[in-house]
Amino acid sequence: MRSHRHPGRRNFLDNWHRTARRAANLHSFALARRRCYPSSGRRIVARSGVQNLGPHDRGVVMTYDLIVVGGGICGASLALRMAKNGARVLVAERETEFRDRIRGEAMQPWGAGEARQLGVAEILRGCANEMRWFLQIINGQPAMKRDMVSTTPQAAGLWGFYHPRAQEELLRAAAAAGAEIRRGATAQHITPGTTPKLRIAQGTEITEACARLVAICLGRNPALRTDLEFRVQRGSIPLFLSGVLLTNLAAEVDPSVAYVANDVMNGAVAALFPQPNGQARAYFGFHPHKCQRLQGDADFPRFRQEFHKAAGEAIPFGEAQPVGPLASFECVDVWVEHPYRDGVALLGDSAASNDPSWGQGLSLSFRDARVLSDELLANDDWNAAGNSYAARHDEHYGVVSKVSGWFYDVFQRLGPKAEARRARALPLFAQDPTRLPDTLFSGPDVPLAADARMRFFGEEVGSGSDTAVGASS
Ligand SMILES: Cc1cc2nc3c(=O)[nH]c(=O)nc-3n(C[C@H](O)[C@H](O)[C@H](O)COP(=O)(O)OP(=O)(O)OC[C@H]3O[C@@H](n4cnc5c(N)ncnc54)[C@H](O)[C@@H]3O)c2cc1C
Repeated sequence: MRSHRHPGRRNFLDNWHRTARRAANLHSFALARRRCYPSSGRRIVARSGVQNLGPHDRGVVMTYDLIVVGGGICGASLALRMAKNGARVLVAERETEFRDRIRGEAMQPWGAGEARQLGVAEILRGCANEMRWFLQIINGQPAMKRDMVSTTPQAAGLWGFYHPRAQEELLRAAAAAGAEIRRGATAQHITPGTTPKLRIAQGTEITEACARLVAICLGRNPALRTDLEFRVQRGSIPLFLSGVLLTNLAAEVDPSVAYVANDVMNGAVAALFPQPNGQARAYFGFHPHKCQRLQGDADFPRFRQEFHKAAGEAIPFGEAQPVGPLASFECVDVWVEHPYRDGVALLGDSAASNDPSWGQGLSLSFRDARVLSDELLANDDWNAAGNSYAARHDEHYGVVSKVSGWFYDVFQRLGPKAEARRARALPLFAQDPTRLPDTLFSGPDVPLAADARMRFFGEEVGSGSDTAVGASS
C-alpha cells in the first residue's frame, strides 16, 4: 500500500483533484475517482468499487487504467504484466480465433531475455522448440555453426513457435491475471487526451472505454496510427519475405538447429526454423526484380525451387509439404519517432517494424511491452512514463535498425559496390567473427563499439570507406 509519506503523494493528489474536476463529463464521480487512482510504486493496488461497475453497463463509458488495442504477442504480454500488477486492463482484439498470418516464429536469444523480464518466458517456452545451434550458410556452403546457449548473455537459443498458439496462450494468461479480454472487438477510433477514449465495435454493438493510457499494439501499418497523425517514416530496403509452415520434414532436419542460408549473389535468404510437433517455418527473402512475388498455394513449387536455389543441399527440404498459407510481405522498415503522445503509445510493429529477414520483430515487441510496463509501474505520472518509454524505444529500435541495415548492406544489397564491399568483408568475418556485431542475437544492450561499423565493413583494411554507396549509417 502507498505510504502517506511517499514522494508521489503530491502528484497523486494533484491528479486526483484535476480529474475530479473533469468528472462533470462523466456519469459518476466514482468513475473519476477510480480513474485517477494512481499506480503506486511497483504494484498497482486493486481499487474498491470496480466490481460495482459492470463492463457492459449501457450508456456508461467504462474506465480502465490501461486499454490495450490488439491482442498480439506484444499487446497480450503488456496486458498480462500490467494485470498481474493490479492494473485494470482491457484488451480489444479483432479476431475470435487466431489463424496463420505468416508472422514471426523464430525468436532471437535476446527476445528470450525480454520475455523473462516480462514474466512470459515460461508461457512461450511451453509452445516453443529451442534451436541451440545457429547454422549460417553462405552461397550453399556452411560458414558458421554457433552454440547460442553458451555464447549469448541470455544463455538461450532461438525459440521456434507457432505464432497463433503463442498469441492464444499469452491472452489466456492475461485473462487469468485479471485482464478483461474482448474478442471479435475491432478498435474503430481513438480520441487522445489526458483520458484517452476508444470506440470499439463488437458484433452490432458499439461501446466506448477510456483509460489513463491507450497502448496501440495493432501490428503492421494500422489505420488508427495514421488517423492519430503520428508521422510515419519508411526506409528503403526493397526486399520481400515469404513464409510457409511445413510438415513432413526431411529426416535430416535437426530440430536443435536454426538454418539460415544467404545467397549473396542474388541478395536472397532462405531459412528453416523447426518447431514442436515435427513442423517448421520456412522463409524465403528476395529482391522483387529477381523473383516474382510468391503468393498462394499454387506458388509452393516455385517457393521450393527458389528456396533450394538459395540454400542448395545445406538446408534439407526433402518432401516437406505446406500446412498453412504461403504469402509474401514487404521488408521495408516503417517507424514512428517518439511513439507516444497525448495518452496514446504505439508498441511492437505499430511503433516500428524492422526488416523481418533479420528476425528482430518478436524481440522488439517484447522489449516494447517490457519497457512500457517498467515505466508505468515505476511512475505515478503516466504521461511522463509514456514519454520516457518513447525515448527509450527510439534508442533500442535505432540500434537494431542500424545494425540490421549493415547486415543488409553486406549480405543482401546488390550491385558492383556492394559486391566489392562483400569481397572485402566476408573473408574478414571468416578470420575474425568478432567483426560481426552481436546486436541481432544478443540485443541492443550489448555495447556497440565506436569502430563497430568500420570493422564490420572491413574499412580499415584495403580500399577504405565506401559510405558513399548509400550504406546504412
Ligand atoms: C513474413 C514475416 C516474417 C517474420 N519473421 C519473424 C521472425 O522470424 N522473427 C521475429 O522476431 N519477427 C519476425 N517477424 C516480425 C514479427 O512477426 C512482428 O514483429 C510481431 O508479430 C509484431 O507483434 P505485434 O504484437 O506488434 O503485432 P501482431 O502480431 O501483428 O498483432 C496485432 C494484433 O492486433 C489485432 N488487430 C489488428 N487490427 C485490429 C483492430 N482494428 N482492432 C482490434 N484488434 C486488431 C490483430 O488481430 C493481431 O492479433 C516477421 C514478420 C513477417 C511479416
